[in-house]
Amino acid sequence: MQYISTRGGMPAANFSTILLAGLAPDGGLAVPTIYPEFNWQHKLSSKYIDYGVLSAEIINLYAPEIPFSELKNITKKVYSKCNFNSDEITPLKFLDDDNAILELSNGPTYAFKDIALQLLGELFSRQLKNENRQLNILGATSGDTGSSAEYAMRGRENINIFMLSPLGRMSAFQKAQMYSLQDKNIFNLAVCGVFDECQNIVKFLAQDLEFKKQANLGAVNSINWARICAQIVYYFYGYINAVAHGWDKNKISFVVPSGNFGNVLAGHVARQMGLPINRLIVATNENNVLEECINTGVYRPRKASDVEATSSPSMDISAASNFERYVFDLQNRDPDKHRVLWNKLSTEGSIDFKSENLFEKINNSDKYPHLAMSAGKSSHQHRIKTIAEIWKKNKRLIDPHTADAFVVGAQKRKNSEKLIFLETAQPVKFAETIFEAVGFKPELPSKVSDLLSLPQNVVEVGVDANEIKKFILKNI
Ligand SMILES: *Cc1c(COP(=O)(O)O)cnc(C)c1O
Repeated sequence: MQYISTRGGMPAANFSTILLAGLAPDGGLAVPTIYPEFNWQHKLSSKYIDYGVLSAEIINLYAPEIPFSELKNITKKVYSKCNFNSDEITPLKFLDDDNAILELSNGPTYAFKDIALQLLGELFSRQLKNENRQLNILGATSGDTGSSAEYAMRGRENINIFMLSPLGRMSAFQKAQMYSLQDKNIFNLAVCGVFDECQNIVKFLAQDLEFKKQANLGAVNSINWARICAQIVYYFYGYINAVAHGWDKNKISFVVPSGNFGNVLAGHVARQMGLPINRLIVATNENNVLEECINTGVYRPRKASDVEATSSPSMDISAASNFERYVFDLQNRDPDKHRVLWNKLSTEGSIDFKSENLFEKINNSDKYPHLAMSAGKSSHQHRIKTIAEIWKKNKRLIDPHTADAFVVGAQKRKNSEKLIFLETAQPVKFAETIFEAVGFKPELPSKVSDLLSLPQNVVEVGVDANEIKKFILKNI
């Protein structure tokens, strides 16, 4: 299994080589040269599907150079009851005959990012040990990614993590989750600015090649292929469990709360590998770059200053970084064609897929069942109303991101379609919004009942790349 860049400018490389790299040298994203088949029907006959084993079988197709027994030890260790609160890891919970929730947020930080990042922590450690080197991860977070990355990397010998967060902009729970970590390889830096300023500092320092080399700088961003790979697994797991429950295998669709397009891209890859998903339905919030593209054919990333701060904050994006991998597939995976198209995006600021004759592939799921997407968008009011409705009807609290999926599922459902809603976070992370919807706050899980009162460990810094550079060099 080899990987190339979507833009054609990277020598073919294996999984272990691209694991620690960020963007390809030509600015593109690493993609596998082919999508291997996975024989999911085979799994239907087993009484019980072990998530860790399923994960090893799927990831093995993408990382054959990792000995299978070693990989299986890793996935069994990561996807354990102790980490994810149940043996099922991502339990599928049926609400009624036509609706189910696939719980992706039972990991250490209560957000779906744990599923990929917990594995990434192990894979990074293994690879760094093999290469006998050290990695210093620099990242910026507005909430979920930062804590998920820190919980994945905490206590690891060959990794330090420096995480920038905007001072005073995260929820009390999110702050406590990150800042209460006392591991000596974790450095929380609260920047006196907004998230975009944090992000800009990371981008600026990543371009400082001398510093990057000197500091062994790396990243854990959402374009990392191993993260996508880890996420493919729960589409198979959810689908197989739905079929085992008696759902018609031709009618199962997934509704996916989407921001950077990483989650739904994994669903797209699963169907390319042979999983007969009926439809992939993309749910966005007010920042509807993806919804607009899928419904009108125009992909128009926004300026950072035009991104609205919403009550489903982990989906507040200006551009969907993983979308490029999907567009690559629309063009029959031809890097030369893709490079030309993507250059247009940087010179003209948008792409009109209609004039490229690609819109049908995006939009017509009857004609292109393995490529097309459906999409809808949600808003604060709809989100609040839906949280209240689901609470009333099912006695179940859902978080604001998952609520966006329910809003869009209701808009887009076709007759007799069976919907699996991906739950991307637990409501306790967004207590204010839940309170607005139902009039009470979710209880803290007993595991973290004292979280908000633990001592916090954070260093305040200015919006100053140099200051941060010095801090990193002093601490590695
Ligand atoms: C990151 C995140 C999303 C968006 O996922 P993408 O892979 O960026 O599309 C949705 N909901 C929650 C809670 C998240 O943390």
